[in-house]
This record gives sequence, structure tokens and C-alpha cells, in this order.
Amino acid sequence: MDQVDEIKQKLDIIQVVGEYVQLKKAGVNWKGRCPFHNEKTPSFMVNPDKGIYHCFGCNEGGDIYSFVQKIEGIDFPEALRLLAGKAGVQLEQYDPRISSQKNRLLDICSAATNHWHEILYLAQGKKALEYLQKRGLSELTIKSFKFGYALESWDDLLKYLKSKDFTEAEIFLAGLTVEKSGGRGYYDRFRDRVTFPVFDIHSNVIGFSARTLNKDEAAKYINSPENPIYHKGRTLYGLDKAKQAIRDNGYAIIVEGNMDVVACHQAGFKNVIACSGTALTVEQIKILKRYTENIALCFDQDEAGQRAAQRSVDLLWDAEMNIKIVQLAYGKDPDECIKHDIKLWEQSLRSAKLVMQFYIDKYLTEEALSNINTKKPATKIVLQELAKIKNKIEQAHWLKELANKLDLSEAILRESIPNPSMTSLNPQKTFVVEPKVEKTQDMKYLEKVFTILINHPQLISYAEEFLPIDYIQSTEMATFYKNLLIHYNEASCELTRKQLVEWLANNHDLPTSYLDSLIIYIDEVYEGFRIDDINNELIGLIKTLTKHHLEATIKMLTKELEAAEKRNDKEQIQMLMREMQTKSEELSKLK
Ligand SMILES: [Zn+2]
Repeated sequence: MDQVDEIKQKLDIIQVVGEYVQLKKAGVNWKGRCPFHNEKTPSFMVNPDKGIYHCFGCNEGGDIYSFVQKIEGIDFPEALRLLAGKAGVQLEQYDPRISSQKNRLLDICSAATNHWHEILYLAQGKKALEYLQKRGLSELTIKSFKFGYALESWDDLLKYLKSKDFTEAEIFLAGLTVEKSGGRGYYDRFRDRVTFPVFDIHSNVIGFSARTLNKDEAAKYINSPENPIYHKGRTLYGLDKAKQAIRDNGYAIIVEGNMDVVACHQAGFKNVIACSGTALTVEQIKILKRYTENIALCFDQDEAGQRAAQRSVDLLWDAEMNIKIVQLAYGKDPDECIKHDIKLWEQSLRSAKLVMQFYIDKYLTEEALSNINTKKPATKIVLQELAKIKNKIEQAHWLKELANKLDLSEAILRESIPNPSMTSLNPQKTFVVEPKVEKTQDMKYLEKVFTILINHPQLISYAEEFLPIDYIQSTEMATFYKNLLIHYNEASCELTRKQLVEWLANNHDLPTSYLDSLIIYIDEVYEGFRIDDINNELIGLIKTLTKHHLEATIKMLTKELEAAEKRNDKEQIQMLMREMQTKSEELSKLK
């Protein structure tokens, strides 16, 4: 057994956490007040069987290692050493083991990168090379970013790396293989995929993102799991190639996707990096601050992208960075914009707005200001943003701008600035906290459904039959559910909870802490339930969700009907009436 696991097994998470947090037993879990955010009523749960903790208030979660890292503000090797001491485990060769192990993992990733890159230029890699060329990537780009192709094979990489004297355990730890069930060895994680290495700031490869070339494959991209060298939240894609240009230009452009970075660099915009899919983290901002304080955010133009941008702005304010927002003149992301017309990309950059100006223009439109009912809420939103500015001079500047725009006195506006602690999403800013999205009642029901399905995969087939994906309004939750169904159906044998959780951990876009919370949530809400009770609970939840879906549909149809009646569109009226009839019948059957 690996020492990391050995230490984990020897230590009781209740004792480890208990040194920092007062815990009380509550059923199978232990509860306490969260050390990572301010709260009066405990929502911090620790589960000794699973060895994990999770806060339902701020979404922090993980195992003993992540807990100690977070609370002590230390890195993994230091946390390992600290916990090894508590467990009475002598680390092999003590501290150097960690750094030499890290070096081994870096060597493995580098060897894999070169192996896959070579295959790209062999006959077997032709389709991958063609794929990259079709995406408009030049020879130079492909070489400098070291893209590659992983063969459609279960052990090509494993064999290659073993021939280079790496052990199976090391290769697994580097995230390149997956453990066979029952511990009967390993197989290649990346198969029939174009590989995109992720580099650290020193241009060492630390992980991979890989895109399938198989149309029927559900997971378009899969990524290396977190491991001793790869920490997603601390990695900024492209920074190794961008750092000089960031210093030279005096600012960094942050985009969402890795491929946006590649497109920008190829087009000569080298000061571009990606936060890789989600909002920026505090760790990433700390690293970035070594190079510049000036940030231009260019997130995807869809709703998810704009939300991620908003979250990033909040953290950047906290770090007192200067922020501009880039709105694309064309397309949904920089890659698309550049491919369409590089002039439009240049134009988008030139017309980037300071973030407060962006908010003022976005919310305080002429229309919004034309009457008091829309003016009030719009002003409130902008003032909330203003309240987040830490620098008093900067805040005063924008207050003045705002006063001019609204034709109000600065004094009145100043009084209306909300208390920053009320608006701050991030009370203890050393830690990354997912902002609380107001959950609707249905979202809460869905989370109950999810926690049941994850913990009892045998119930998934029931859900699949009675809860269609289009009943789910939140796109993120719908995607999660869809993936769950796809994986369930693809599994060759009966899925265990463990297998399902492992798969989800590697294949969904929600934060890991969210998955943890779904796993543990079942004990919070259904403690002591027998499987029959859980079964009934699931049936009830799905019934409620169906009812709500039908009610919403009927409401929508009613509106459409009114509109059709106004237009006197007879055909449409008839059709809508029929549809309403069916939906109402379905609904009455449920009641
Ligand atoms: Zn918390």
C-alpha cells in the first residue's frame, strides 16, 4: 500500500479535524462549525467511514490531506509529513522522497508527451494530425504545445513507460493509468484521443487534457486527475509560454478554454492564459500577481461564461487587481473570433472596458434609467459591485462617475452603498469559496435524487424511465444527470457505488466538492432509511418534479395561447388547446 493511503488508514479523520474544530456526533456523521467560513449553525460534516469532510455552507470538502493543507496553508508534501508524524509512519527516505517522487512523476509525464507526440507523425496518428490541422493549427503550434495522439490501445503507453523503467504504481500516480477493478493491474487512461499536455510554469508537463476522436464517445474531453504534481486550481494553462509577454505587455488576458490560448498564441497574442474551464481561483490569482496586476477577462459569451467571469471579478477585486472586461465582437470564444477575423479580435481587445464601466454600461442603460421602478434595482446592482472595490480612491472615482450618470449627489449614493460584508461572497478570502447560487426548490429535490442515485446505482434505471432529462431546468444539473445515465448504460456489468463515483470524479464538470457533497448528502437527509424507504422517497421526488414540470409547461402554454388568441391564429389555438389538454390529464393523474 502506498504510504499516502497507509497514513490515511491509520488516522481517524474525526481526530485530525477535531484538533481544529469542535465536532459533535450526529448520526453516522460528526458536525461542527466550519473553519473555512463564518457561521453560527454548524453545517460542516465529517464522515469517518468515508474519510471525508464537507461543508454545506461554503462547499469546502475533501480528505485529511486537503483539510490540513487548507487549514495550515501548506502544500501536499508538508501535509503528508505532518500527518505521517501523527500516524507514526516513517516516510521512506523522509522528505527527499517527496521531491524525488515528484521528479519521477514529471519524468513520466514528459516521456508520455514525447511518445504521443511521435505517434502523431506515424501512420497510426494520421487522423489525429488531420484533426489538429482541420482546427487550423500550424506545424509550429503543434510542435511547441507538443500535442500528440494516444493509440486506441489498453496498454500501449503502460508498456512504453515500463520499458523506460517506471513502475506501474508511479505511472498510476501520475494519472496516466486507471486501476482495474479488483486491483488486478492497470490500463491506459487515455485511448484513441488527441492529447494536449498541461505545463507548469517551468514548462514541465504535469498533466493532460485529451479529446476523443470517436464520435460515439460520451466524454469529449477527459483530464488527468489531481495528483502530487497536478493541481488544477493552481494551474494556469499557457503561463509558461505567456509569462514574458505578460510582463512585456503589462497585462494578461485570461480566457476560459485551453484551445483559446493556443489560437491566441498562434495568432501572435502571447500574453494569453486560461483558467481552464471554471472561474479563477485564489491560488491562480496569487501566481498571476507575480507577473502583473492588470487583467483582461475574456470569458465565453454564454451564460455560464459570464457567471464564471463574475465570480472571477469578485476574487480579483479582493486581490486588488485592475480588471478589464473584453466583449467579443464576434463568436462565442476567442478561438472562434480569431478564426473568423483577426481584426475583430483586435477590435475587441481595444474596446475592453474597465469592469466598473462595464457594469455601468450593462445595467444603467437609458431604458433602465427611464423610470424609477427599473432604475432602483439597476442602481442597486451597480452599487453592490462598487462596494467590492477595496481601494478607496478607486471607489471614490467610480462613485463620482455614477453620481454624474444618475444625476444624484455623491452623498446620497455613498449612503446607499451596501455593507461589503453583506455582499462579499468570500468572507475568508484565503480560501476559495464557491458562491452560493440561490437554489430553487426543484434543484434541492434534484440533489436528493442525485444523492440517492449515486449511493444506490441500481435505482438509476427507474429514474431514467420516469425522469426525462428535459424536466431539469438547470443546464449543469441536466448535464450531470445525462452523464450519469450514459455511464450507467455503458457499463458492462452492474455498477457499484465506488465505480460510479470514480467515474464521475473524472468525467463531470462540476467542482469535486460538489460531488463529495452529493455522496455525503444521503446521510444528512436519509439517515436510518432502509432501502425500501429510499425507494419510496425517490418515487415521491420524481413525482413532485414531474408535477412541477407539467405545471410550468401548462403555464407556458397558457401564455402562448393568450398570444395566439390576440393574433387570432386559429390553427395555433387549436394545437395549444390540445397540448394543454394532454398535459392537464397527465397532471391530474399525478394528483
Ligand atoms: Zn464552510
